[in-house]
Amino acid sequence: MSLIKKDTTILKNFINGVWVNSISSQTLNVPNPATDELLTKVPVSSKEDVNAAVTSAKEAFKRWKKIPVPKRARILFKYHSLLTDNHEELARLIVHENGKAYKEAYGEVQRGIECVEFASGVPTLMMGETLSGIAEEIDSEMFRYPLGVVGGITPFNFPMMVPLWMFPLAIACGNTFVLKPSERTPILANRLAELFADAGAPPGVLNVVHGAHDVVNGLLDHEDIAAISFVGSQPVAKYVYERAASKGKRVQALSGAKNHHIVMPDADIDKAVQHIISSTFGSAGQRCMACSAVVVVDDNERFVKALTKKADELIIGNGMDDEVLLTPLIRKEQRDKALGYIDKGIAEGADLLLDGRKEISEHSQGNFLGPTIFDHVTPEMTIAKEEIFAPVLSLLRAQDLDEGLEYIRKSRYGNGATIYTNNAKAIRQFREEADAGMLGINVGVPATMAFFPFSGWKDSFYGDLHVNGKDGLNFYTRKKMITSRYDG
Ligand code: NAD
Repeated sequence: MSLIKKDTTILKNFINGVWVNSISSQTLNVPNPATDELLTKVPVSSKEDVNAAVTSAKEAFKRWKKIPVPKRARILFKYHSLLTDNHEELARLIVHENGKAYKEAYGEVQRGIECVEFASGVPTLMMGETLSGIAEEIDSEMFRYPLGVVGGITPFNFPMMVPLWMFPLAIACGNTFVLKPSERTPILANRLAELFADAGAPPGVLNVVHGAHDVVNGLLDHEDIAAISFVGSQPVAKYVYERAASKGKRVQALSGAKNHHIVMPDADIDKAVQHIISSTFGSAGQRCMACSAVVVVDDNERFVKALTKKADELIIGNGMDDEVLLTPLIRKEQRDKALGYIDKGIAEGADLLLDGRKEISEHSQGNFLGPTIFDHVTPEMTIAKEEIFAPVLSLLRAQDLDEGLEYIRKSRYGNGATIYTNNAKAIRQFREEADAGMLGINVGVPATMAFFPFSGWKDSFYGDLHVNGKDGLNFYTRKKMITSRYDG
């Protein structure tokens, strides 16, 4: 595999179809989160690198937008087959740089491939609308056109799926793209670009610029960037949304989360425990759809005991080991932040049922933190309100469903929420009243598939059109209306 370019220890940027060194000499280490082994170094590119990538994308756009739509779709079909052929290798790369379990990584690759599948339907997606006879002998037609150069900024936790939420559909619609992957998981992005070029994407259509804040700001401020797709933490999402929108750009900024799972008294306890364990502790809690707060309705002690026991039995270790469910956090800083929240939970009076800190001394390498569960957490406590993004779960007690729904309503976030019950009335009330954009009924991770929008609410999303589905299509295209008179 050519990608962790073996001839160098510093990753390259991909600009105008060529692998190039960043102009900047500053770099960051990219370690394996499970072993601390240095995988590569990533350049902290400068605004000049961004400018070069945008120039390349702007030039490429002049030609790419004229390529017939079915021809663009054929490149995506080829890309789909290359990604599928390399499914296992891509999953292994994810485990190495992100740390998640191989099974999770394999699933993530599948989710990414499904985005390419969706984008391959672009001839149908991009069809316009017509109305014959809007007035006497006058017809109206609507055509869709691309926007120009789109910038994409992505987080560490889904190094494959999130970039593929963005560039395949944007490019299929006729745009060109500059991707700024997470500096903590940059390796896979290069492999994705390499395979896209192998699929026949012309130079400049997809560019990758590695780095941190300077690259982001370079994209947000660049006058030749028409739109920004962002996924990351809440403060950065809000900042990106405001800064890019103030420059007149179209923006979608997907943000942080605090996802509540309500366990009703009639819930199947074994199944609810199984789903909550996997949702809370899979990927070490580093998923925007992870369960991070469970609302236990009506003093269900049997559920609390079963959940704590199962969590305590979790196998912790390197994601390449088949048995493992709980993998490391991305960096030591992320673990330190989680430890700060654990201290805060104790200080604010929550009951620490399971203390994951004991696992730290068990692992001399890697950023491990064991499963941690707090009980009798109240909605005012910091650990109930803020996104911890680690294997730390809060249990809140509620008398009934109304009180549970009130907790969800009070949360500033509204990405996902789940209910465990077989009671039709409770399910309907939950569906109608839960104040979040992606709901699960007995489903632990109710993340949507590529043909539906990924539709977070409240502070989990800034913008109007979400990624994926028809929202994604509308975000990456603009409409032109033609009114024609045929009277002469
Ligand atoms: P992050 O905000 O630290 O980084 C995201 C991107 O923004 C990275 O490319 C990073 O380089 C850049 N960035 C970070 N700080 C910046 C700053 N001050 N100025 C300019 N750019 C900056 O997020 P992360 O830790 O990589 O990812 C985890 C977060 O992403 C979590 O909050 C998670 O909930 C969220 N997320 C949300 C969704 C969703 O669909 N809502 C999906 C995945 C992840």
